[in-house]
Amino acid sequence: MVQAVRGMRDVLPDAARRWRHVESVVQQVLRTFAYEEVHLPLLEFTELFARGVGEATDIVEKEMYTLADRDGDSLSLRPEGTASCVRVLQEHGLLYNQTQRVCYAGPMFRYEKPQKGRYRQFYQIGAEVFGFAGPDVDAELIQMGAQIWRALGLEQHLRLEINTLGDGNARKAYRDALVAYLTPLQAELDADSQRRLQTNPLRILDAKAAQTQALLKSAPQLPDFVDEHSAAHFARLRELLDGMQINYVCNPKLVRGLDYYTHTVFEWITEDLGAQGTVCAGGRYDGLVERLGGRPTPAVGFALGLDRLLLLHEAVCADNPGFAENAADVYICYANDALLSHGLELAARLRREKLRVRLHMGGGNFKKQLKRADACGAGWAVLLGEDEVNSGTLSLKNLTSGEQQQLDVEAGCGMLAAACAGST
Ligand code: ATP
Ligand code: MG
Repeated sequence: MVQAVRGMRDVLPDAARRWRHVESVVQQVLRTFAYEEVHLPLLEFTELFARGVGEATDIVEKEMYTLADRDGDSLSLRPEGTASCVRVLQEHGLLYNQTQRVCYAGPMFRYEKPQKGRYRQFYQIGAEVFGFAGPDVDAELIQMGAQIWRALGLEQHLRLEINTLGDGNARKAYRDALVAYLTPLQAELDADSQRRLQTNPLRILDAKAAQTQALLKSAPQLPDFVDEHSAAHFARLRELLDGMQINYVCNPKLVRGLDYYTHTVFEWITEDLGAQGTVCAGGRYDGLVERLGGRPTPAVGFALGLDRLLLLHEAVCADNPGFAENAADVYICYANDALLSHGLELAARLRREKLRVRLHMGGGNFKKQLKRADACGAGWAVLLGEDEVNSGTLSLKNLTSGEQQQLDVEAGCGMLAAACAGST
């Protein structure tokens, strides 16, 4: 047998059921915020990510799935959605003289070391807002996250960390100060941080290595470099969060890996998943649209990692009260092949009532068919014999109690619809 490619996700029915539930809750919350949906392609020109994510990031340096198209163009599977989102809106003129609030969902691809909560194919739900420079929209995006956790019953399991990177100049001044401080200590840094000192020094702040964290204790602090305007933006954001009673921790070491982030950055983190604890991350990226060739446009967004959210949901809600565990509501059995077309017709009718219907396949007597009905977890079986067809009735068997009754078709369908309402 050919096996799965390492790090790609196989989602089996049990997990898919939870997935559908969790994703639909997230989507419902997004709907209540009146964000519009966009679909982004899986493949883009590699250059989009090189420019949009940044040459010096881990993603572009070593994590992209890049291939040559048949005509030699370099394409990459998308490692994230923000750059594509900007491209799409820009290319279709949707950033011209207007604001946008959009969301998207789908798989992303990064060549990382697979482990719990970290895969090479993973699924993100993203929200991005364009055209608003103030902290109002930062607050709204954080409120959206809080609503999602609450809707899923996970609010006790996620902590919000926030920080501000200041404007472009503040960020650059801090970067220079950090490099000046760390350069003489270079030899004592872990290997990754040594490399980042040249390429992406801010990322050293979230290095895992203890020796590096020890050196950072006396390093220059980002908040000391933040400009006045940015500090006011951040103060107002905190005020808005306080007003909404959303708890947060200010973490001056919180940075995002990408060059273009400015002002607010935030992460929702859980302690329940070990090292891969960041479930949702976002921030303001006022520089990106211009960097990708558009007019300067303030922007802010987040990406939620659905794989990690699902792991957390599973850890917290072991059994899944919110959604059906069985595959079908109703199982249709029929006495012989001559009745198959009646079975197909009845199945169609029940499905129009939104019932989940399995029609028996492969022949056999009622006893065998009822075994299958039990196996798929259906609550009801319909037994179609010549009698029922001739008299326009249905024999319904409640598979939990074993009781059987015969009703006319109309009443029988109504009864099943009422009995199974809300199971889907
Ligand atoms: P990390 O520090 O965990 O690598 P990141 O900063 O690379 O995260 P982002 O690019 O900000 O992550 O992506 C947003 C979210 O997408 C993350 O917070 C996480 O929930 C999820 N995510 C990122 N990479 C992966 C992955 N390889 N597997 C599963 N989920 C991921
Ligand atoms: Mg990463």
